[in-house]
Amino acid sequence: MSGKNVTEVRLADAAGIAEAARILESGGLVAVPTETVYGLAARADSAEAVARIYAAKGRPDFNPLIVHVSGVEQARTYAEFAPEARALAAAHWPGPLTLVLPRRQDAPLAPAVTAGLSTVALRAPAHPAMQALLAAVDFPLAAPSANRSGFISPTTPAHVLASLDGRIDLVLDGGATTAGVESTIVAVRADGSVDELRPGPIAVGTRGGGGGIEAPGQLASHYAPGKPVRLGALDAEADEFLIGFGAIAGDCTLSASGDVTEAAARLYACLHQAARAPQPRIAVARVPEQGVGRAINDRLRRAAA
Ligand code: AMP
Ligand code: MG
Repeated sequence: MSGKNVTEVRLADAAGIAEAARILESGGLVAVPTETVYGLAARADSAEAVARIYAAKGRPDFNPLIVHVSGVEQARTYAEFAPEARALAAAHWPGPLTLVLPRRQDAPLAPAVTAGLSTVALRAPAHPAMQALLAAVDFPLAAPSANRSGFISPTTPAHVLASLDGRIDLVLDGGATTAGVESTIVAVRADGSVDELRPGPIAVGTRGGGGGIEAPGQLASHYAPGKPVRLGALDAEADEFLIGFGAIAGDCTLSASGDVTEAAARLYACLHQAARAPQPRIAVARVPEQGVGRAINDRLRRAAA
């Protein structure tokens, strides 16, 4: 299990899903593609399995995990769904939207999943591999991004291995992920109002910025490539790796046509390439604050912090 130091990589086909389900059943760790980034999954009802996630990632224990479910029916086992929450789930699930809701007292979840909060974060992902896995097991999956805590999120199996090889049991290979940035997180209050805790691929009408206190994982420094990052660059200094956008062509370009959706899908691949490059510093061209551009700029600000 997770103690061994060989991480297997398998295609996310029927046989791969079946093996992943067996490993998860016995408390192991499996990296799984979702439509956002690769997640590091463990059974959310087992304290030992959840503890392995925190250990493998070096994740601080005050940073709660998102619980992945097959749909709203399963989700209602774990949280109270106000009408507004039900409407959001109906509109956006399966998909890259995480709902932070009041946790049910009797929810069969390991306490570490919610880091002692009275709320729980729930998401029903759309990726066929994650859906097949959730259908193959009879427990929900706690799954943060499959990288060492604080570093760049993974959008390919190679990114996962660069961070976690030997620390997890299996990587299910579903190729590169499509949305590229982590799910939108919103909290639905008792009065039905909705606060955005993290921008992401889905825009939800909210009354705007939630508190950092409630989303304890939203640390100022995150997604760190391990070298200084300069934002809003028009061109590169001699010692900088340039991440370009639109008319500003870089050593890696997010989207030559200036498309923010394409830029989101390429963001972490460019940051991984920049981290590995010989240049000691990174410069990034301006990305417009439109659509998923808000999520890209949120991640870039944390990478630069
Ligand atoms: P990650 O799994 O790395 O994408 O991070 C999950 C994010 O969800 C973290 O930033 C957490 O702070 C946030 N989160 C998870 N559970 C809750 C919760 N109950 N309340 C607020 N934020 C949460
Ligand atoms: Mg993460």
